Formats: sequence, structure tokens, C-alpha cells
Amino acid sequence: MGYLKLVPFIFILNLFGPTPTFSDSSSTSNGLSEIPKRFLQYAKNPELFDWMVGIRRKIHENPELGFEEVETSKLIRTELDKMGIPYKYPVAVTGVIGFIGTGRGPFVGIRADMDALSMQEMLEWEHKSRIPGKMHACGHDAHVAMLLGAAKILQEHREELKGTVVLFFQPAEEGGGGAKEMIDAGALENVNAIFGLHVAPNLPVGEVHSRAGPIGAGSGFFEAVISGKGGHAAIPQHSVDPILAASNVIVSLQHLVSREADPLDPQVITVAKFQGGDAFNVIPDSVIIGGTFRAFSKRSFMQLQQRIVEVITGQAAVQRCNATVNFFTQAKIFYPPTINHQGLHDYYLNVAGDMLGSHKVKDLKPVMGSEDFSFYQEVIPGYFFLLGMENETRGRLESLHSPYFQVNEDAFPYGAALHASLAARYLLEFQPEVSFSEVKKHHDEL
Ligand SMILES: [Zn+2]
Ligand SMILES: [Zn+2]
Repeated sequence: MGYLKLVPFIFILNLFGPTPTFSDSSSTSNGLSEIPKRFLQYAKNPELFDWMVGIRRKIHENPELGFEEVETSKLIRTELDKMGIPYKYPVAVTGVIGFIGTGRGPFVGIRADMDALSMQEMLEWEHKSRIPGKMHACGHDAHVAMLLGAAKILQEHREELKGTVVLFFQPAEEGGGGAKEMIDAGALENVNAIFGLHVAPNLPVGEVHSRAGPIGAGSGFFEAVISGKGGHAAIPQHSVDPILAASNVIVSLQHLVSREADPLDPQVITVAKFQGGDAFNVIPDSVIIGGTFRAFSKRSFMQLQQRIVEVITGQAAVQRCNATVNFFTQAKIFYPPTINHQGLHDYYLNVAGDMLGSHKVKDLKPVMGSEDFSFYQEVIPGYFFLLGMENETRGRLESLHSPYFQVNEDAFPYGAALHASLAARYLLEFQPEVSFSEVKKHHDEL
């Protein structure tokens, strides 16, 4: 009887068990510090490097938008099959989840996004996008290649794994909230922690940048229709002018950040869209305005959202107009702020430091951009970092989302080896130790 009760308890403890705590991983005596170096050396092997480059170029030539990553997903599954890595598919339409290791806990996730952007590549090169109007301009092709690289390293070293690495190939990062869909499909079940990276064109290759706490803002979009009464522009007294009302609305929205927000709590409201009227002598019936709002905390974000409605409707009423406000993203959801777990940050500093040298592991200034990795971090401890790509001798790389965006493939061994090391060492360092007396104590309480 006691045994029957004991088993489920241990199981529960493994799934939802203690927030990760780490032993001091600076200990060199047990060989932990050698893992990142060994994996980097392995990833630099020309055979593995060329294979990753080949995969990335293939994906780059055939970019697919969010939830349409059919060929990309197929390519990933073909490579996992060749390596003998089992996976679940489909998850969130095109997503793939692979498993390497013992099949038992702890479970640690490493993630790549697969989607491209709806834009035309302008750079002429051998592996330019073959699909007009679609381009991998955010480096997600590189993310997939590096995660497959990590899979190869981990599969080769699977005997050393003390748990299970879960590979997340997720769709639709760019506005589609693919991470949220993966979570809704149960992808995080049993997973204790998750790591993700993004290529950074303006940081040196061989360096990684991140920090504990918020690194990216929560993001939402709004659109408002401000309605008045159209008429002759020379007889304004017979009209209700929505252009003037919208102008006052836009000015008033600026006061939310400048007068209502804590100056030490960064927030942004930008009206980026203003559509109304198309004649010199006609006051239009209505005007559409729209834009984005950003904040680092959920509280500030929700406060902004509420005040945007109040200011738009209230200020429009001052000018005798009506206003309706809609909030949306492509996926009808807001992206939460990207917040890195403190315990995982300390752990990452050790692992990345052991691989690259601590002088190459640098602090990151938070940005107002957003990243859907944040959805994972709302559920379990997660850590996100930037992987440098710049090689000064070859000139500056264009920014993410530029039609001239380029990836420096020399960064791939670092990305693959970091993914693999963070996962493998996590399993070694985060072994929940449950003493018999502890179990018995809880058991008696059940
Ligand atoms: Zn992007
Ligand atoms: Zn991206």
C-alpha cells in the first residue's frame, strides 16, 4: 500500500518538482567544464559544419511562412530519422519534437523556430530565396541548422546523458505565436527547463550576450476607427471632423508614457498607421489609426492596454466623434515580455564561460523587441541568449528583417555546441535528489 502511494509521488515530484537549483558547476574535477569544450571541438569538425551549412542553405532557398513550414518540417524529420532520433509530429501544425537520451527525467528543452518572413530578398547570391516575396531574414534557417547540429552532437554522446533532451522545432515565431500553440499541444509536459538562442548580426562571432530578468518587451498591436461626419472642407460647421479628433488622440496617447508611466519602467506607444481622407476639399467620415505598445512587465502592459482604450474613446468624444478600439496580433494574442530565469542565468554563465571564456560571455542591454520564446518562460524556467555573428574583417552585417540580411555561418559550431552543452550539462547538474526520509515525510502527509 505504502509503495503504491510512494510511486506516484516520486513521479509528480519529477514533473513539477523543485525549481532548478544548481550545484556549483565551476568544479573542474568532475569533468563538467570539459563538456562545452569537447562539444565545440566536435561541432567544428568540417563534416558536421558542412552538413549544418548545407541544411541552412537548403531551407534558405525555400522559405516558408508561419504554420506553412511543410518542407522545412519534412527536412527536419528526414534528418532526425537518419540519426535515429524519435520524434512527435505534427505538433502545432508543422512543429516537431525530438527526444534524445534515457526517455526518463529530468527533461530539458532546446528550441529553434522555423518560419520565414513575408518580404523579398534583395541580396544576389547562390542560395538566394527562390520564392518571390518570402525570405529567411531573421536567421530562423540558421536556428534550425544549429539545433539539428546539436541533435547530432547529443545523439553521438547519448550514453553520457542523464535524462532526456527535448528538441523543439516550432512554427510561426514571427507574429503567429507558434510557441503558444506548442504549449497548448502539450509540448512542455514534463520539461523542467528550456533554452533558446537568436543570431545577432551586430555582435562578434564567438560571443554570446544575455542577462537575468527581462531582455525583451511584451508587445501588442491596436487599431482604432474614429468616426465623425463627412462633408465639405470649406463648411466645417456642418461636419464632425475625424481627422482633427484622430490628431488629438495621437497627441494624448503620447502622454501615457511621458506622464503616467514610471520613468524607470520602459514603455513605448507608437502610432504607426494613420489612414483618412483622400481629397483636398472633403472632410472624411472616418479615420483609422493603429500602432504598437510595449512594456517589460505584465502589469504595465495591461495598464497601457486599458488606458489606450480610455484615451482613444474619451479624446474622440471631446471632438464629438465615436471610436472603437481593437487589439490584435496575427494570432490574436499578445507576446509577453521575455524574462530570463535567474538560476538558469547563473548556470548559462558557467557553461558558456567554460566554452568561450568568460570574457566572451557579455551582458545584454534589454530591447523593446519581442520574442515568442517568452510563452515558454511563462510556464517553466527558460533562458534566451544572443549568438554573435559579426566578423569585422568581412564588414558589417545588415540588421534582422533587412532584405539584405546575411548569416555568418561561422557562428554555427558555437550555436550547436552551446545548445548541446546547455542541455547535456543541465541533465547532469539538475538531478533532483530525493532522500528516502524526505519522500516518507511527504508520503505520510498524503
Ligand atoms: Zn524576426
Ligand atoms: Zn527571429
